[in-house]
Amino acid sequence: MSLSSPYQDPALCRALLDRLQTALDGRELRFMEVCGTHTVSIFQSGLRSLLPKEVTHLSGPGCPVCVTHDAEVAAFLDLAGRDGDLLRVPGPGGRSLKHAQAQGARIEIVYSPLDALNIAAANPDDTVVFLGIGFETTAPTVAATLMMAEQRKLDNFCVLSLHKLVPPVLRALLDDKDGCDVQAFLLPGHVSTILGLEPYGFLASEYRVPAVVGGFEPVDILQALCIMAEQRRDDAPAVVNAYQRAVSDQGNPRARALLETYFMPSDALWRGLGPIPNSGLALRPAYERFDAMKRLDITLPDVPPLPGCRCGQVLKGRITPPQCPLFGKACTPASPVGPCMVSTEGSCAAYFKYMT
Ligand code: SF4
Repeated sequence: MSLSSPYQDPALCRALLDRLQTALDGRELRFMEVCGTHTVSIFQSGLRSLLPKEVTHLSGPGCPVCVTHDAEVAAFLDLAGRDGDLLRVPGPGGRSLKHAQAQGARIEIVYSPLDALNIAAANPDDTVVFLGIGFETTAPTVAATLMMAEQRKLDNFCVLSLHKLVPPVLRALLDDKDGCDVQAFLLPGHVSTILGLEPYGFLASEYRVPAVVGGFEPVDILQALCIMAEQRRDDAPAVVNAYQRAVSDQGNPRARALLETYFMPSDALWRGLGPIPNSGLALRPAYERFDAMKRLDITLPDVPPLPGCRCGQVLKGRITPPQCPLFGKACTPASPVGPCMVSTEGSCAAYFKYMT
Protein backbone atom coordinates (compact mmCIF):
# COMPACT_ATOMS: atom_id res chain seq x y z
CA MET A 1 0.00 0.00 0.00
CA SER A 2 1.30 3.47 -0.85
CA LEU A 3 1.40 5.73 2.20
CA SER A 4 1.46 8.97 0.25
CA SER A 5 -1.84 10.39 1.50
CA PRO A 6 -2.10 12.24 4.82
CA TYR A 7 -5.12 10.01 5.46
CA GLN A 8 -2.75 7.03 5.50
CA ASP A 9 -0.09 8.65 7.69
CA PRO A 10 1.39 5.97 10.00
CA ALA A 11 2.08 8.38 12.88
CA LEU A 12 -1.47 9.70 12.76
CA CYS A 13 -2.82 6.15 12.62
CA ARG A 14 -0.72 5.23 15.67
CA ALA A 15 -2.02 8.25 17.59
CA LEU A 16 -5.60 7.34 16.70
CA LEU A 17 -5.05 3.73 17.72
CA ASP A 18 -3.82 4.98 21.12
CA ARG A 19 -6.87 7.26 21.41
CA LEU A 20 -9.12 4.31 20.53
CA GLN A 21 -7.49 2.07 23.13
CA THR A 22 -7.96 4.75 25.78
CA ALA A 23 -11.61 5.30 24.85
CA LEU A 24 -12.32 1.58 24.87
CA ASP A 25 -10.84 1.19 28.37
CA GLY A 26 -11.36 -2.56 28.12
CA ARG A 27 -14.91 -2.33 26.75
CA GLU A 28 -15.92 -4.32 23.71
CA LEU A 29 -16.85 -2.48 20.48
CA ARG A 30 -18.77 -4.52 17.93
CA PHE A 31 -19.25 -2.18 15.00
CA MET A 32 -20.80 -2.81 11.62
CA GLU A 33 -19.37 -1.22 8.52
CA VAL A 34 -22.43 -0.83 6.35
CA CYS A 35 -20.58 -0.32 3.11
CA GLY A 36 -18.62 -2.93 1.17
CA THR A 37 -15.96 -0.35 0.29
CA HIS A 38 -15.21 0.01 4.01
CA THR A 39 -14.93 -3.78 4.31
CA VAL A 40 -12.32 -3.90 1.56
CA SER A 41 -10.48 -0.85 2.89
CA ILE A 42 -10.19 -2.33 6.40
CA PHE A 43 -8.54 -5.41 4.92
CA GLN A 44 -6.51 -3.74 2.18
CA SER A 45 -4.96 -1.13 4.46
CA GLY A 46 -3.95 -3.74 7.04
CA LEU A 47 -6.13 -2.04 9.67
CA ARG A 48 -7.82 -5.26 10.62
CA SER A 49 -4.63 -6.66 12.08
CA LEU A 50 -3.93 -3.44 14.02
CA LEU A 51 -7.30 -3.00 15.70
CA PRO A 52 -7.40 -3.56 19.46
CA LYS A 53 -8.66 -7.00 20.48
CA GLU A 54 -11.80 -5.43 21.97
CA VAL A 55 -12.91 -4.29 18.49
CA THR A 56 -14.93 -6.63 16.29
CA HIS A 57 -15.89 -5.53 12.81
CA LEU A 58 -18.97 -6.95 11.17
CA SER A 59 -19.86 -6.47 7.54
CA GLY A 60 -23.31 -5.14 6.79
CA PRO A 61 -25.83 -5.10 3.97
CA GLY A 62 -24.14 -2.33 1.99
CA CYS A 63 -22.97 -4.16 -1.11
CA PRO A 64 -25.71 -3.79 -3.73
CA VAL A 65 -24.80 -7.00 -5.51
CA CYS A 66 -24.83 -9.00 -2.26
CA VAL A 67 -28.29 -7.85 -1.19
CA THR A 68 -29.93 -8.46 -4.56
CA HIS A 69 -32.47 -11.17 -3.79
CA ASP A 70 -32.53 -14.55 -5.54
CA ALA A 71 -36.04 -13.72 -6.80
CA GLU A 72 -34.71 -10.53 -8.39
CA VAL A 73 -31.94 -12.48 -10.14
CA ALA A 74 -34.61 -14.93 -11.33
CA ALA A 75 -36.60 -12.00 -12.73
CA PHE A 76 -33.55 -10.73 -14.71
CA LEU A 77 -33.00 -14.21 -16.07
CA ASP A 78 -36.61 -14.43 -17.11
CA LEU A 79 -36.31 -11.08 -18.84
CA ALA A 80 -33.09 -12.09 -20.60
CA GLY A 81 -34.76 -15.31 -21.75
CA ARG A 82 -37.60 -13.39 -23.37
CA ASP A 83 -35.82 -11.77 -25.91
CA GLY A 84 -20.00 -6.04 -13.81
CA ASP A 85 -20.40 -8.33 -11.14
CA LEU A 86 -24.07 -8.83 -11.17
CA LEU A 87 -23.72 -10.91 -14.32
CA ARG A 88 -21.99 -13.60 -12.28
CA VAL A 89 -24.47 -13.81 -9.40
CA PRO A 90 -25.98 -17.28 -9.50
CA GLY A 91 -29.74 -17.48 -9.72
CA PRO A 92 -31.97 -20.52 -9.43
CA GLY A 93 -30.16 -23.68 -10.59
CA GLY A 94 -26.82 -21.85 -10.52
CA ARG A 95 -27.70 -20.02 -13.76
CA SER A 96 -26.49 -16.43 -14.04
CA LEU A 97 -26.92 -13.54 -16.46
CA LYS A 98 -23.49 -14.50 -17.81
CA HIS A 99 -24.94 -17.87 -18.79
CA ALA A 100 -27.95 -16.17 -20.37
CA GLN A 101 -25.58 -13.84 -22.25
CA ALA A 102 -23.55 -16.83 -23.49
CA GLN A 103 -26.78 -18.37 -24.74
CA GLY A 104 -27.47 -15.33 -26.87
CA ALA A 105 -29.48 -13.02 -24.61
CA ARG A 106 -28.79 -9.38 -25.39
CA ILE A 107 -27.21 -8.13 -22.18
CA GLU A 108 -24.75 -5.25 -22.16
CA ILE A 109 -22.67 -3.82 -19.34
CA VAL A 110 -22.84 -0.05 -19.29
CA TYR A 111 -20.90 2.42 -17.20
CA SER A 112 -23.80 4.81 -16.78
CA PRO A 113 -27.57 4.66 -17.26
CA LEU A 114 -27.07 7.34 -19.93
CA ASP A 115 -25.25 4.73 -22.04
CA ALA A 116 -28.39 2.59 -21.87
CA LEU A 117 -30.41 5.58 -23.01
CA ASN A 118 -28.09 6.02 -25.99
CA ILE A 119 -28.53 2.33 -26.86
CA ALA A 120 -32.30 2.91 -26.80
CA ALA A 121 -31.89 5.94 -29.08
CA ALA A 122 -29.78 3.91 -31.52
CA ASN A 123 -32.24 0.99 -31.55
CA PRO A 124 -35.71 2.50 -31.80
CA ASP A 125 -37.36 -0.83 -32.65
CA ASP A 126 -36.10 -2.53 -29.49
CA THR A 127 -37.13 -2.08 -25.88
CA VAL A 128 -34.10 -1.38 -23.70
CA VAL A 129 -34.40 -2.27 -20.01
CA PHE A 130 -31.91 -0.72 -17.60
CA LEU A 131 -31.31 -2.82 -14.51
CA GLY A 132 -31.34 -0.36 -11.62
CA ILE A 133 -29.55 -1.74 -8.60
CA GLY A 134 -27.70 0.08 -5.87
CA PHE A 135 -28.53 2.47 -3.07
CA GLU A 136 -29.21 6.18 -2.70
CA THR A 137 -25.85 6.85 -4.36
CA THR A 138 -26.73 5.45 -7.77
CA ALA A 139 -30.49 5.99 -7.87
CA PRO A 140 -30.28 9.77 -8.56
CA THR A 141 -28.35 9.10 -11.78
CA VAL A 142 -31.18 6.80 -12.85
CA ALA A 143 -33.69 9.53 -11.99
CA ALA A 144 -31.64 11.98 -14.10
CA THR A 145 -31.68 9.46 -16.97
CA LEU A 146 -35.46 9.22 -16.75
CA MET A 147 -35.62 13.00 -16.98
CA MET A 148 -33.50 12.84 -20.16
CA ALA A 149 -35.62 10.00 -21.58
CA GLU A 150 -38.62 12.28 -21.16
CA GLN A 151 -36.83 15.21 -22.77
CA ARG A 152 -35.63 13.08 -25.69
CA LYS A 153 -39.06 11.41 -25.99
CA LEU A 154 -37.50 7.94 -25.91
CA ASP A 155 -40.38 5.62 -25.23
CA ASN A 156 -38.43 2.39 -25.87
CA PHE A 157 -36.44 2.83 -22.63
CA CYS A 158 -37.50 1.56 -19.22
CA VAL A 159 -35.99 0.77 -15.82
CA LEU A 160 -36.27 -2.35 -13.71
CA SER A 161 -35.90 -0.60 -10.38
CA LEU A 162 -34.42 -2.85 -7.72
CA HIS A 163 -32.84 0.04 -5.86
CA LYS A 164 -32.62 -0.22 -2.11
CA LEU A 165 -32.47 2.28 0.73
CA VAL A 166 -29.99 2.20 3.59
CA PRO A 167 -31.81 3.70 6.62
CA PRO A 168 -34.73 1.21 6.50
CA VAL A 169 -32.39 -1.79 6.42
CA LEU A 170 -30.48 -0.46 9.44
CA ARG A 171 -33.76 -0.18 11.32
CA ALA A 172 -34.67 -3.72 10.24
CA LEU A 173 -31.33 -5.03 11.53
CA LEU A 174 -31.88 -3.38 14.90
CA ASP A 175 -35.47 -4.70 15.04
CA ASP A 176 -34.45 -8.25 14.11
CA LYS A 177 -36.49 -10.66 16.19
CA ASP A 178 -33.38 -12.71 16.93
CA GLY A 179 -31.67 -9.66 18.40
CA CYS A 180 -28.84 -7.58 17.04
CA ASP A 181 -25.28 -7.58 18.33
CA VAL A 182 -24.24 -4.37 16.59
CA GLN A 183 -23.14 -1.68 19.06
CA ALA A 184 -22.27 1.05 16.54
CA PHE A 185 -22.50 1.76 12.82
CA LEU A 186 -19.80 3.01 10.48
CA LEU A 187 -22.17 4.72 8.04
CA PRO A 188 -21.52 4.60 4.30
CA GLY A 189 -19.63 7.61 2.94
CA HIS A 190 -21.02 7.51 -0.60
CA VAL A 191 -24.69 7.10 0.36
CA SER A 192 -24.29 9.87 2.91
CA THR A 193 -23.16 12.35 0.25
CA ILE A 194 -26.78 12.18 -0.91
CA LEU A 195 -28.61 11.66 2.40
CA GLY A 196 -26.65 13.83 4.82
CA LEU A 197 -27.16 13.03 8.51
CA GLU A 198 -30.85 13.52 9.21
CA PRO A 199 -32.19 10.18 7.86
CA TYR A 200 -29.93 8.33 10.32
CA GLY A 201 -31.10 10.31 13.37
CA PHE A 202 -33.29 7.46 14.64
CA LEU A 203 -30.21 5.28 15.25
CA ALA A 204 -29.11 7.45 18.14
CA SER A 205 -32.45 8.87 19.28
CA GLU A 206 -34.54 5.66 19.19
CA TYR A 207 -31.98 2.88 19.50
CA ARG A 208 -29.17 4.71 21.32
CA VAL A 209 -26.61 3.36 18.86
CA PRO A 210 -23.63 5.57 17.89
CA ALA A 211 -23.40 6.12 14.15
CA VAL A 212 -20.52 7.83 12.36
CA VAL A 213 -20.22 8.72 8.68
CA GLY A 214 -16.68 7.77 7.78
CA GLY A 215 -14.33 8.04 4.84
CA PHE A 216 -12.41 5.13 3.41
CA GLU A 217 -8.78 5.81 4.30
CA PRO A 218 -7.22 4.31 7.45
CA VAL A 219 -7.20 7.66 9.26
CA ASP A 220 -10.88 8.18 8.42
CA ILE A 221 -11.87 4.77 9.70
CA LEU A 222 -9.82 5.04 12.89
CA GLN A 223 -11.21 8.49 13.60
CA ALA A 224 -14.75 7.12 13.21
CA LEU A 225 -13.95 4.23 15.56
CA CYS A 226 -12.59 6.65 18.17
CA ILE A 227 -15.80 8.69 18.03
CA MET A 228 -17.92 5.53 18.39
CA ALA A 229 -15.87 4.29 21.37
CA GLU A 230 -16.01 7.72 23.04
CA GLN A 231 -19.77 7.92 22.57
CA ARG A 232 -20.15 4.50 24.15
CA ARG A 233 -17.81 5.44 27.01
CA ASP A 234 -19.83 8.61 27.65
CA ASP A 235 -23.20 6.96 27.02
CA ALA A 236 -23.86 9.76 24.52
CA PRO A 237 -24.92 8.18 21.22
CA ALA A 238 -25.14 10.58 18.29
CA VAL A 239 -24.94 10.66 14.52
CA VAL A 240 -21.67 12.34 13.56
CA ASN A 241 -20.16 13.33 10.24
CA ALA A 242 -16.47 12.41 10.31
CA TYR A 243 -16.11 12.65 6.52
CA GLN A 244 -16.67 16.35 6.06
CA ARG A 245 -14.31 16.67 3.11
CA ALA A 246 -16.87 14.72 1.04
CA VAL A 247 -20.17 14.71 2.93
CA SER A 248 -22.17 17.75 3.94
CA ASP A 249 -24.51 17.39 6.92
CA GLN A 250 -27.39 18.30 4.59
CA GLY A 251 -26.38 15.81 1.90
CA ASN A 252 -27.29 16.69 -1.67
CA PRO A 253 -30.77 18.27 -1.76
CA ARG A 254 -30.82 18.47 -5.59
CA ALA A 255 -30.15 14.76 -5.95
CA ARG A 256 -32.81 13.97 -3.34
CA ALA A 257 -35.32 16.20 -5.13
CA LEU A 258 -34.66 14.37 -8.39
CA LEU A 259 -35.18 11.04 -6.64
CA GLU A 260 -38.39 12.31 -5.09
CA THR A 261 -39.70 13.38 -8.49
CA TYR A 262 -39.36 10.00 -10.19
CA PHE A 263 -39.35 7.46 -7.36
CA MET A 264 -41.33 6.64 -4.25
CA PRO A 265 -40.48 4.27 -1.38
CA SER A 266 -41.71 0.72 -1.85
CA ASP A 267 -41.36 -2.59 -0.04
CA ALA A 268 -38.28 -4.49 -1.20
CA LEU A 269 -36.81 -7.95 -0.92
CA TRP A 270 -33.29 -8.23 0.50
CA ARG A 271 -31.21 -11.36 0.18
CA GLY A 272 -31.03 -13.13 3.48
CA LEU A 273 -33.10 -10.46 5.18
CA GLY A 274 -36.41 -10.92 3.36
CA PRO A 275 -39.00 -8.23 2.72
CA ILE A 276 -38.41 -4.87 4.41
CA PRO A 277 -41.14 -2.20 4.30
CA ASN A 278 -40.34 0.96 2.36
CA SER A 279 -36.75 -0.09 1.76
CA GLY A 280 -36.83 0.07 -2.04
CA LEU A 281 -37.65 2.57 -4.76
CA ALA A 282 -40.48 2.16 -7.26
CA LEU A 283 -41.28 4.52 -10.11
CA ARG A 284 -44.09 6.92 -9.38
CA PRO A 285 -47.40 6.23 -11.23
CA ALA A 286 -46.85 9.31 -13.42
CA TYR A 287 -43.78 7.55 -14.90
CA GLU A 288 -45.32 4.11 -15.29
CA ARG A 289 -44.35 4.08 -18.97
CA PHE A 290 -40.69 3.81 -17.88
CA ASP A 291 -41.40 1.10 -15.31
CA ALA A 292 -40.21 -2.28 -16.62
CA MET A 293 -42.14 -4.09 -13.88
CA LYS A 294 -45.44 -2.75 -15.19
CA ARG A 295 -44.60 -2.43 -18.85
CA LEU A 296 -43.22 -5.96 -19.22
CA ASP A 297 -45.47 -7.49 -16.57
CA ILE A 298 -42.57 -8.72 -14.44
CA THR A 299 -43.32 -10.48 -11.17
CA LEU A 300 -40.75 -11.70 -8.68
CA PRO A 301 -41.05 -15.49 -8.43
CA ASP A 302 -40.85 -17.50 -5.20
CA VAL A 303 -37.31 -18.81 -5.11
CA PRO A 304 -35.92 -21.07 -2.38
CA PRO A 305 -32.69 -19.82 -0.76
CA LEU A 306 -29.39 -21.11 -2.16
CA PRO A 307 -28.70 -24.38 -0.34
CA GLY A 308 -26.01 -24.00 2.30
CA CYS A 309 -25.29 -20.32 1.62
CA ARG A 310 -25.27 -18.22 4.78
CA CYS A 311 -25.08 -14.80 3.12
CA GLY A 312 -28.11 -13.69 5.13
CA GLN A 313 -26.31 -14.29 8.41
CA VAL A 314 -23.16 -12.64 7.08
CA LEU A 315 -25.15 -9.57 6.01
CA LYS A 316 -26.79 -9.36 9.45
CA GLY A 317 -23.40 -9.50 11.14
CA ARG A 318 -24.31 -12.78 12.88
CA ILE A 319 -21.37 -14.71 11.49
CA THR A 320 -18.16 -13.81 9.72
CA PRO A 321 -17.64 -15.45 6.31
CA PRO A 322 -15.15 -18.11 7.49
CA GLN A 323 -17.91 -19.42 9.76
CA CYS A 324 -19.92 -20.43 6.68
CA PRO A 325 -19.24 -24.15 6.08
CA LEU A 326 -18.91 -23.53 2.34
CA PHE A 327 -16.35 -20.72 2.65
CA GLY A 328 -13.17 -21.47 0.70
CA LYS A 329 -14.38 -24.99 -0.09
CA ALA A 330 -17.48 -25.24 -2.25
CA CYS A 331 -17.60 -21.42 -2.42
CA THR A 332 -14.66 -19.41 -3.80
CA PRO A 333 -14.45 -16.33 -6.07
CA ALA A 334 -13.77 -18.65 -9.01
CA SER A 335 -16.87 -20.67 -8.24
CA PRO A 336 -19.16 -18.58 -6.04
CA VAL A 337 -22.22 -20.07 -4.39
CA GLY A 338 -23.62 -16.80 -3.06
CA PRO A 339 -23.37 -13.14 -4.08
CA CYS A 340 -21.18 -12.18 -1.11
CA MET A 341 -18.43 -14.18 -2.83
CA VAL A 342 -19.12 -12.67 -6.26
CA SER A 343 -18.86 -8.96 -5.71
CA THR A 344 -15.42 -7.43 -5.27
CA GLU A 345 -16.99 -5.57 -2.33
CA GLY A 346 -18.68 -8.65 -0.89
CA SER A 347 -17.51 -9.58 2.57
CA CYS A 348 -16.94 -13.25 1.70
CA ALA A 349 -14.78 -12.25 -1.27
CA ALA A 350 -12.82 -9.79 0.92
CA TYR A 351 -12.20 -12.40 3.62
CA PHE A 352 -11.16 -14.90 0.93
CA LYS A 353 -8.78 -12.48 -0.74
CA TYR A 354 -7.10 -11.14 2.39
CA MET A 355 -7.33 -13.98 4.89
CA THR A 356 -6.73 -17.19 2.96
FE1 SF4 B 1 -22.66 -17.64 0.80
FE2 SF4 B 1 -20.26 -18.43 -0.08
FE3 SF4 B 1 -20.39 -16.49 1.68
FE4 SF4 B 1 -20.98 -18.98 2.41
S1 SF4 B 1 -18.98 -18.22 1.76
S2 SF4 B 1 -22.11 -17.11 2.93
S3 SF4 B 1 -21.92 -19.75 0.55
S4 SF4 B 1 -21.20 -16.43 -0.41
